[in-house]
Amino acid sequence: MLYVLDKQNSVLGNFIREIRSVDIQNDPLRFRKNIERIAQVMCYEISKSLNFTTEQVQTPLGVAPTNIVADQIVVASILRAGLAMHNGVLDFFDGAENCFVSAYRKYIDEQNFDVHVEYIAAPLLDGKTVILCDPMLATGSSMELAYKALFTHGTPARVIVCSILSTEFAVDYISKVMPDCDIYTAVLDPELNSHKYIVPGLGDCGDLAFGVKL
Ligand code: URA
Repeated sequence: MLYVLDKQNSVLGNFIREIRSVDIQNDPLRFRKNIERIAQVMCYEISKSLNFTTEQVQTPLGVAPTNIVADQIVVASILRAGLAMHNGVLDFFDGAENCFVSAYRKYIDEQNFDVHVEYIAAPLLDGKTVILCDPMLATGSSMELAYKALFTHGTPARVIVCSILSTEFAVDYISKVMPDCDIYTAVLDPELNSHKYIVPGLGDCGDLAFGVKL
């Protein structure tokens, strides 16, 4: 199932405007903060699809039945850009565990690249709900390889893809190769350029958050 959050107007649009705008996005502190705020809004939406258990909470005046998240959440971020989302997701799921997967594009020429996954740090994932974060779902290749890497650490009950900007191409691809996964994206953009960057997109998310790499 695909969930596109900006289909419904909300304050999310304000945060998206700031990360896209060439006049605003070059302040790394503000850029990271906006990515984190978007991740938080997305978690609120994702939380509606989780399992809940009812707990009786003692207040000073009585007992209140309260539904709380029952899933064991693992926040899995694809390095580097996913790091900018990571704390935003953790803020919403107390007690969540953490996973980090490295995936990077190695360009063969201007237009073609291979994706390399060299590193994964993860707890045991058996039966857990993994929220797999990468702000830019451009082609889906990094997401697919990161997803496969998760299974070297167990079999999650559910993997939820959490991306800020996605392309229709990537969403179609992920739906085929990861059919059991729900995809949450803040925005769906129409195109990829010849360098496989999202258009209109926002540029290089990792560079904007953490600085230009060599
Ligand atoms: N990664 C980015 O940072 N930006 C894109 O547009 C695509 C992949």
